[in-house]
Amino acid sequence: MEKQQQNQPHLLDVQNLYVNFHTPDGIVTAVNDLNFTLDAGQTLGIVGESGSGKSQTAFALMGLLAPNGKVSGSALFNGTQLVNLPTAQLNNIRAEQIAMIFQDPMTSLNPYMKIGEQLMEVLMLHKGYDKKTAFDESVKMLDAVKMPEAKKRMGMYPHEFSGGMRQRVMIAMALLCRPKLLIADEPTTALDVTVQAQIMTLLNELKQEFNTAIIMITHDLGVVAGICDQVLVMYAGRTMEYGTAEQIFYHPTHPYSLGLMEAIPRLDGKHDSLVTIPGNPPNLLHLPAGCPFSPRCRYAAEQCKTAPKLTALSEGHLRNCWLPATQFEGRTL
Ligand code: SF4
Repeated sequence: MEKQQQNQPHLLDVQNLYVNFHTPDGIVTAVNDLNFTLDAGQTLGIVGESGSGKSQTAFALMGLLAPNGKVSGSALFNGTQLVNLPTAQLNNIRAEQIAMIFQDPMTSLNPYMKIGEQLMEVLMLHKGYDKKTAFDESVKMLDAVKMPEAKKRMGMYPHEFSGGMRQRVMIAMALLCRPKLLIADEPTTALDVTVQAQIMTLLNELKQEFNTAIIMITHDLGVVAGICDQVLVMYAGRTMEYGTAEQIFYHPTHPYSLGLMEAIPRLDGKHDSLVTIPGNPPNLLHLPAGCPFSPRCRYAAEQCKTAPKLTALSEGHLRNCWLPATQFEGRTL
């Protein structure tokens, strides 16, 4: 991980973040002592299966947790503490500095409003633009997300767009106010693989054009391989491994990262069949003693009945496992 220049704070600095949900059956800790940083123009991939806590991390940052959710710890964004920030201040930050795109654009777009009206509304409301300027800026942004015939599309309704095109509209809408941070929660899961690749390429290009930092949340390590600077692998709300894309993709040292890597379909014939991680993610109300991954881990041993600690292997490369990292040396995927 690149060293942040002295005296230059990170764009986002998350320390000891916890998210707890109070349920009738007890307290569920969905995010457990999470730490990471992100700098301008960088992309962090947060990867894990359903229930790993990756989306709840994003919701906690955006102040969008369910009413029974409580967040604690610190999330400093551009000098502002996001944790427990009053709603009015959070609304300003959410609109203009942090934007989020979701898996299904149809849930975020108003089906009864033309795309152009929805885009223009953002600029008129948050930037105070007049109608003509808002129209021109919206067309420019549709062009930036490579929407063919952008002007004509302004007068169309969401149902007239394909899934991939709708996701482009959402990306355009998210970037209209030039946010410093874009959080993308499984943005390509509902799309076919060709369109997935196009959207990921587009996000990569836009990140460079607008110097936007991106948090890419996904269950699929393969999706983020080409776009991330750093990767955080989560399981049961905790960090399993955290490092640069190079460290995680090419030299994973945690059995869970390795399992996720092996589950990526390959075209080079290295794996004859798809390898899956046995079992299911744990019930957060009834976690196994010790390492939460132990019931599914092929390397589990007596020692794993005690929870390992997150320790640094090298600068910026952290892992949460008892197994010596040397066990994985020379392992290529
Ligand atoms: Fe597997 Fe043990 Fe490492 Fe957990 S601590 S990932 S069970 S080897």
